[in-house]
Amino acid sequence: MFCPICGKESKGICKECYLKKNPISIGNFQLIVCKKCGKIFPEIGENEENLKKIVRKNIFSGEMVKINDFKISYSKDEKFEKFMNIKVVLFCEYQDEKFENEQNIKVRVINTPCKSCSRKSGHYCEVVLQLRGDREKIKETYGKIDQIFVSDVDELKEGLDVYLISRDYGTSSIKQFADEGAVIKRTSKLWGMKDGQRIYRGYILVKFSDIKVNDKVKYKDKIYKVLKTGKFLMGENETGKKKQFRMKNCEKIE
Ligand SMILES: [Zn+2]
Ligand SMILES: [Zn+2]
Repeated sequence: MFCPICGKESKGICKECYLKKNPISIGNFQLIVCKKCGKIFPEIGENEENLKKIVRKNIFSGEMVKINDFKISYSKDEKFEKFMNIKVVLFCEYQDEKFENEQNIKVRVINTPCKSCSRKSGHYCEVVLQLRGDREKIKETYGKIDQIFVSDVDELKEGLDVYLISRDYGTSSIKQFADEGAVIKRTSKLWGMKDGQRIYRGYILVKFSDIKVNDKVKYKDKIYKVLKTGKFLMGENETGKKKQFRMKNCEKIE
């Protein structure tokens, strides 16, 4: 029998042609790493075991390819400290033929102290997420925050202060809030001194708009009825003409 694609002798499609059509790959993922001790999350288990579990979930291959086993090696990227290089050697099988496949990937690292490191440094917090504005939105957003990054929460009259142990996590989460139309302000305040050094704490103010569908808003002196909210709002004026503009640039009128 011959491969119907390249004509080489083979039982059906040969390995090379099959892999060309169904390449083996590793999907992109993020790693959570303690920057103090190098622990790879989740906190239970050894680093290599944890990394293998995460990698296993992200291996993609055609269904005719069997992945029997794989080994990994990893190192911090020297040029980009927020990345880690991982080499994965896969032990595969296609129609009783065994072969190896090597994948080299670069994954983003989110730094956060692990439980034992954050306990050592007391009530740890790198950045405070200040959720303000629409109550429902605050509740919904808090529900989405990964609790392993939260060291404390303050309920205030004006909203929630969420103490995050990872600045990286705080920074990576705000893009999503901006897309939903929140106004974001970043500041930092002098927090104290440690070993003769000033320590600053970051604050990220996230103000959710209370504008909802069917509300009336004012934009450049014209009044619109809201059809869709988000980073960009869709409004309709009294003549039925639709217009899109940034939600943070308009004002709700009662
Ligand atoms: Zn072929
Ligand atoms: Zn640690």
